[in-house]
Amino acid sequence: MADFTKTVYLDHAATTPPSTAAIEAANQAMATVWGNPSSVHAAGLAAARLREKAREQILNALHVRFATQSQLIFTASGTEADNLAILGAANAKNFPFIPRLILSDSEHPAVMQPAMLLQKKGWEVIRLSTKGGIIDPAELENALCERTVLVSVMTANNETGAVYDIPNLFSLVHQKCPKALTHTDAVQAFGKIPVSPDALHADMITVSAHKIHGLKGAGALYVSREVLKRRALVPIVYGGGQENELRSGTEAMPCIAAFGAAAQEISQFSTESIYERTDKLRSYLLSQLDKRITVNQPCGSYLPGTLSISLPAIRSEIMLRFLSERGIYVSAGSACSSHKNTVNPVLLAFGLPAEQADCTLRISFSHEQSEQDLQYLATTLTEGIETLTKKREPRKHSHDN
Ligand code: PLP
Repeated sequence: MADFTKTVYLDHAATTPPSTAAIEAANQAMATVWGNPSSVHAAGLAAARLREKAREQILNALHVRFATQSQLIFTASGTEADNLAILGAANAKNFPFIPRLILSDSEHPAVMQPAMLLQKKGWEVIRLSTKGGIIDPAELENALCERTVLVSVMTANNETGAVYDIPNLFSLVHQKCPKALTHTDAVQAFGKIPVSPDALHADMITVSAHKIHGLKGAGALYVSREVLKRRALVPIVYGGGQENELRSGTEAMPCIAAFGAAAQEISQFSTESIYERTDKLRSYLLSQLDKRITVNQPCGSYLPGTLSISLPAIRSEIMLRFLSERGIYVSAGSACSSHKNTVNPVLLAFGLPAEQADCTLRISFSHEQSEQDLQYLATTLTEGIETLTKKREPRKHSHDN
């Protein structure tokens, strides 16, 4: 019998609950240090100090030492940081040839949509296959040419949890096309696996606060010294010249302070031990899952806390509602696309047939989840499979985001 009073949040890839430290930091920025960091009086200087502390905390979590202030640009979201990386690099130069942008076919819409905008403007956009959660380096090598301006491949996928081999892919880019820039959207990977510009060979890295127990309303783009020196990035938001002229707008200080505090917590724990604990929970969940469920396991590396499963002929929305009524919160596709009546293109790119993609749920949890929570999910899924019958309406298929 289901326990209707219980709430189990298993949608950490959509957003995470803010940590106590993040809430305290945001409170401080709201209640005491509420000045405008651009003001030159004491209240402004105190806010600027708080902003710089947060910047340092995030750079530390990215294992960047001796960075200049301009190497981490605060934005309002991971989406904005992705847009800045793609459009800011594209607008920085007038290319005397048809510029080429290479990405994976499973990027988040925050990368895919600006790429499509560039394509409409005449850029050549190449999408690398992510079938089975793997990118073939040979496919990248074939795609690289002298006209390649930017290669943007996410570190880990938000739907399947697949972790791509960014170090290998990006070193190939630097070897074959020394002028091309590399960008990785590490929004899902940050805090779960080691993310650093050195390890990933990345010129630019996107991170987002609310995926690491910070607040919604802050993201950041790490930019290498080389990119700044070459003036290979221009702003996409113009105004008062904040963030070293690369992102205008008065900073959202409570969100930035909370981002710093959340990043500081990442630095305190080893990602290896977090990974190990989460992977144990994953194995436990897999051992408890109904045999009628298919696990869409990436062929290579993966984020242990992100699990894609397909149900036996029950549309994901129907199961989602069944689980939600019993206090279990998961997701059907990413939160960004779950309101669109289209089959998730990332799942199709992974290799799932449309019919199976339509019956797929994403379960995402942290290393602090309890086995009881996962057990409750497994039992409720079995109950759901037995109760629900397949009710499938025809749907439109789309590859647009
Ligand atoms: N990139 C990836 C891989 C994501 O999963 C998300 C959010 O789900 C984003 C970018 C967008 O980040 P934000 O929600 O901060 O705009």
